Amino acid sequence: MQKCDVLIIGGGPSGSVAACQLLQKGYSVTVLEKLHFPRFVIGESLLPRCNEILEKNGLLELIQRQNYMYKGGAIFINENREEEVVDFSQNLGQKWGSSFQVKREEFDDVLLQEAKRRGAKVYEGVTVTDYDNEKNIVTATDEQGGTERYEARFVLDASGYGRVLPKLMDLDIPSDLKLRNAIFTRIRGERRREGEKEGYIDIVIHDDNNAWLWIIPFSDGTTSIGIVCEESYFENSGLSEEAFLDSVFQKHPYLSEKLADAEKIVPVGRIQGYSAAVKKMYGKGFALSGNATEFLDPVFSSGVTLALQSSDRVAELIDRELRGETVDWQRDYEEYMMVGIDVFREFVYAWYDGRLGKIFYAPKKQEQVKRSISSILSGYVWDRENFFVNNSKEKINTLIKLIGDSA
Ligand SMILES: Cc1cc2nc3c(=O)[nH]c(=O)nc-3n(C[C@H](O)[C@H](O)[C@H](O)COP(=O)(O)OP(=O)(O)OC[C@H]3O[C@@H](n4cnc5c(N)ncnc54)[C@H](O)[C@@H]3O)c2cc1C
Repeated sequence: MQKCDVLIIGGGPSGSVAACQLLQKGYSVTVLEKLHFPRFVIGESLLPRCNEILEKNGLLELIQRQNYMYKGGAIFINENREEEVVDFSQNLGQKWGSSFQVKREEFDDVLLQEAKRRGAKVYEGVTVTDYDNEKNIVTATDEQGGTERYEARFVLDASGYGRVLPKLMDLDIPSDLKLRNAIFTRIRGERRREGEKEGYIDIVIHDDNNAWLWIIPFSDGTTSIGIVCEESYFENSGLSEEAFLDSVFQKHPYLSEKLADAEKIVPVGRIQGYSAAVKKMYGKGFALSGNATEFLDPVFSSGVTLALQSSDRVAELIDRELRGETVDWQRDYEEYMMVGIDVFREFVYAWYDGRLGKIFYAPKKQEQVKRSISSILSGYVWDRENFFVNNSKEKINTLIKLIGDSA
């Protein structure tokens, strides 16, 4: 049996950032990762809030050195080819007004290597299969079929879509969001914008918002592209995943032009039913972070931001607990995280039910409204000064009414 202070399940950004912070604080940390890095994972567009958390944990310079694509904002394009440009620098005074587009196999590897450099014991190709909550012992198997047990003072589940502890401890609950799927690939040769907007993410509406697509440009000239829609919308097409993607590329007026010279460079992939939620984000001797807690929807690229925010917060609380303090996990972790998650959740709802489109494409918007939205879409979803943060639903609906009255 191996022993450590903190055992982390999963070496994605959530696991690595928590590991980096805990190592700085002097704890012994072991990370168990099922795959071998670098490994592919979807989710390549970051938000400015990530920079703040990376900076706080001494990781931002490392990321800035990687020559990732500069991301200054997002452009939402409707079927009339009207563009709503969200410029991240036009926020509510927050320090970071830009972010990066990253290939996750590279970004995640940089962070995991840094955790190793700071002293983490990282075992790759090791899958966690069991957890004894009474004794805080995790059991894992390696690729040769060998089994090892790890006793920790605290266990952090950062296993993302693996959802290890939610499954083992019956913490999973269905998401209140509809079952959607994403079909995606990487391409080369699409027509890019010039200048500062080259690195913006495009969010392209298709077929009366029955589907939307992301276009994420990388600094090496390749691009990630994918479509998100309800399962039935894809199934009813009767097409294969690749043919479905091709047919949307050809039919859509904006895409057919933008992708006229583009070619796919990797096989088309698909991920289904990714939205998930949990009954609890913590318990005696353990906590969940990142996608192992709640995952909403990819439309605002919030996943890595929430993963980093939760791991930063959870690492602080683990430190306090291991130093003997009484930690109010409900208030200081779960309720704190839910503030930001619920703001994004309401924006996701407003995106799919069309309320956000009404705001985006309204003929006139006050400067303060534009800045408040930019700040939310930058990931500053805990900023109580922002109009949209407290009671987001009511605020969005009030704005829609004002737009309607003035139209
Ligand atoms: C279609 C789609 C598009 C997205 N686009 C974006 C985007 O543009 N921007 C964004 O920020 N987010 C995006 N996301 C979300 C993003 O993918 C996740 O939020 C992010 O990867 C979460 O990081 P994590 O560290 O929590 O988990 P992960 O990155 O999934 O890492 C978890 C790790 O745990 C390991 N693991 C799993 N099971 C076990 C086990 N039993 N034992 C040991 N290790 C295990 C896995 O191998 C993995 O390496 C998107 C999601 C989807 C579905």
